[in-house]
This record gives sequence, structure tokens and C-alpha cells, in this order.
Amino acid sequence: MFDTHTHTNFSTDSRMDIKEAVEICHKDDIGIVITEHMDTNYPGNKKFRFEPEMYFNQFQNYREDKILLGIELGINEEFKKENREIILKWPFDQVIGSLHFLGNYDIYEKDTYQGRDKHSVYTEYFNSISNLIDSHNYIDILGHIDYICRYADYDDSEIYYQEYKDLIDEILIKCVHNEIVLELNTRRLNNKIVLKNLYPIYKRYKDIGGKYIAIGSDAHSKEAIGNNFFEAYQFAENLNFKVVYFKNRNIQYV
Ligand SMILES: [Zn+2]
Ligand SMILES: [Zn+2]
Repeated sequence: MFDTHTHTNFSTDSRMDIKEAVEICHKDDIGIVITEHMDTNYPGNKKFRFEPEMYFNQFQNYREDKILLGIELGINEEFKKENREIILKWPFDQVIGSLHFLGNYDIYEKDTYQGRDKHSVYTEYFNSISNLIDSHNYIDILGHIDYICRYADYDDSEIYYQEYKDLIDEILIKCVHNEIVLELNTRRLNNKIVLKNLYPIYKRYKDIGGKYIAIGSDAHSKEAIGNNFFEAYQFAENLNFKVVYFKNRNIQYV
């Protein structure tokens, strides 16, 4: 198995030491891609960004077939040029592109949802992802398509495919067209209902030609590495996906 989405203490919100991550990999025989946060549009100075030079210097010695050095790049309009330059300049194994903001509003913050109905916010969310794939079409993986469900301040924050079918289809078509792999983020899979709600999205991705998925825990601690992977791999198998990760930006089969 390969966990394609993990954060060590190069990410602002993680305290996991790379040594702990390496220990889990060897003990549990699981590969990982470390994917530190790079949100070029994060307000303030240094938060949710890291120095690639320092990252490669410090982690280079840990790099091996089962421990790869990637990045989770926050896709955004304002710094799209900078984003592209970072990816061109540094030898990341794998690039996840993730939407964390709606314009200047942090999806994580409750204020983002105040006075706005779910339908208009989710419409903006899917439109943003779709538009930002165009300017970030070099990413390897589209991260957590259900990210907003974690934090949206509504009674029911789940995504129901039928309600946003056209917008979601547009995203999936762009992924297939640009050879961007859809991630299945396992962070929310403790709740059985989540996979049920995600199923029609991944089924649609499959039907329009998606062959691959990447399975990532979004671990911010060693305990979370490989969380809910049994369910996720079974889900992938049921839909006949090949589970993949990237090494030197090349697709690898698990
Ligand atoms: Zn993320
Ligand atoms: Zn993440």
C-alpha cells in the first residue's frame, strides 16, 4: 500500500517528525509520499508555506523507494505563476493540487459560510476547482474533492453528486483530459455514509475514462498514516481503478 498524502512538521499544522513516519513505513510495510502544504495565497507571512531548499536538504537522506518527497500545492488564481515556477524548479516526486480557499475565504473558517446558502457556496467551490485546473493542469493529483464537507457550517455538509452533476462532471472531464489522477482522501471515511455519497462521483470519473486513483490519508500524525485504507482499497477495487502514486513525477502502480 502507498499513502500518497501525508504532512510532517514542514507543514504548519503538523507536528509529525519524519523519523516517526519512516518508522511506521518500515513497521507496517507501507509506502508514503510526504506532501507538505504550500499555500502561496495564505494571508500573513510564513504560514502554510515551506522552503523547498530546506525541505530537500533535510529530507534527502530519508528518500527511498517507499519514502517519496512531494508537495500539496494550494491552487489559487492570484499566485498561479508562482505556483508553476515552484513546481518547475524543484524535484518533487508528486504534486497534489488542492483547493483550500474560495477567493480570499479560507474553507476551514466558519466565517466563510456566514450568511451564505450551501448551494451558492458549493457552486463556487466546484467552479473554482474547475477553473483552477486550467491554470494548474500540470498537477499529478487533484486532492480531496470533498474537502469542503469537513468544514462547511451547514446542518448537512455532504456533497450529493446529482445536485452538482454538471459542475462535477466538468472537473472530472478536465482531470481525465489532463491526465490528472483523482484522489480518494480517507480522512472522512470513518463515517460509512461518506463512501456512499462519494460513490457516484468516482463512478462517473470511471465512466468518462478515469483509470487511476490515488489513496491518501492526509495524515498530520503518525497514527493517521494509512487510516481507513482497507475501505478505500476495497472501494477502488469495486470500481476497477488502478491505485497509483508518483515518483519523479511518473505514475507508479501500487
Ligand atoms: Zn489539503
Ligand atoms: Zn493535506
